[in-house]
Amino acid sequence: RAKSEGRGRYRFFEATMGAQVRDRRLLEHDLRHAVARGELHLVYQPQSDVASGEVFGFEVLLRWRHPTRGLVSPAIFIPIAEESGLILPIGEWVLREACREAANWTNPLTVAVNVSGVQIHAPNLVPLIQEVLRETGLAPERLEIEVTETALIREPARAQVTLRQLKALGVRIAMDDFGTGYSSLSNLRAYPFDKIKIDGSFIRTVDTNEQTAAIVRSVLGLGRGLGMPVLAEGVETAEELNFLLGENCAAAQGFLMGRPGDISGFAHLTHPAKGSVLAA
Ligand code: C2E
Ligand code: MG
Ligand code: MG
Ligand code: MG
Repeated sequence: RAKSEGRGRYRFFEATMGAQVRDRRLLEHDLRHAVARGELHLVYQPQSDVASGEVFGFEVLLRWRHPTRGLVSPAIFIPIAEESGLILPIGEWVLREACREAANWTNPLTVAVNVSGVQIHAPNLVPLIQEVLRETGLAPERLEIEVTETALIREPARAQVTLRQLKALGVRIAMDDFGTGYSSLSNLRAYPFDKIKIDGSFIRTVDTNEQTAAIVRSVLGLGRGLGMPVLAEGVETAEELNFLLGENCAAAQGFLMGRPGDISGFAHLTHPAKGSVLAA
């Protein structure tokens, strides 16, 4: 009896796996046409200076509106795009759209674009970014590339060369999701990072958990020692922001300051003496 029960469970497991694999293939198939069918769009989330509250830039986040499923989370479709190689054309589309948009802003705010490990290890990333900057007229200093440490581990030496070349163009490089995944302190000196983004999972309890607070304080100290500004991700409450203010954290991003949204929704944001961040 135990044996047949076990087999039954196994079959159930197998059937579930089959459904997941099929569903993934269906999504991959649909994703293949998503750019051409105009199903992808970008949302923007403000990044602000903690001390002054001023917005200095936006992170670009990709959205996929599937014709029948509705919005599919990047947590689902980005891994599919990476494994299928579709992240290359999709990532190129994101870069071009984001730089074109930012080049239109009346104020020289920064635009931060997430770049996957697959893109970092592709041979044409540097010439592609060079071409996009030339084509859109965006000043290289206004483009920030967000990369996770996990994105660099496949071929660290090659990733190092690519990041150095990007830096030579004048592009900024931020380490995304710091403290999660394959975090290693040696990465902070092995790669030419300009900024550290502390993962939101640390910010959630920074004001209520002494251990989390100690970790975040250490990362801020690390950033200070290395001359790298630190941005706190996922700030949702005034208490979290107050903690960051008290600890002299340079920058923050999160639902408290603004949820990711259509760029036109941020037209009310102004820069001192310069007016709206968006084009007139
Ligand atoms: P990420 O780059 O770390 O982006 C931050 C994520 O946190 C975003 O999720 C954002 O919507 C969310 N977030 C921002 N503020 C808060 C907050 O206060 N609370 C909470 N709970 N969440 C907050 P999203 O848009 O779902 O993106 C998830 C991940 O997908 C991104 O993490 C990034 O790794 C990836 N991704 C998104 N767009 C792109 C893209 O264009 N290219 C690549 N390669 N990856 C992308
Ligand atoms: Mg990011
Ligand atoms: Mg992140
Ligand atoms: Mg909290």
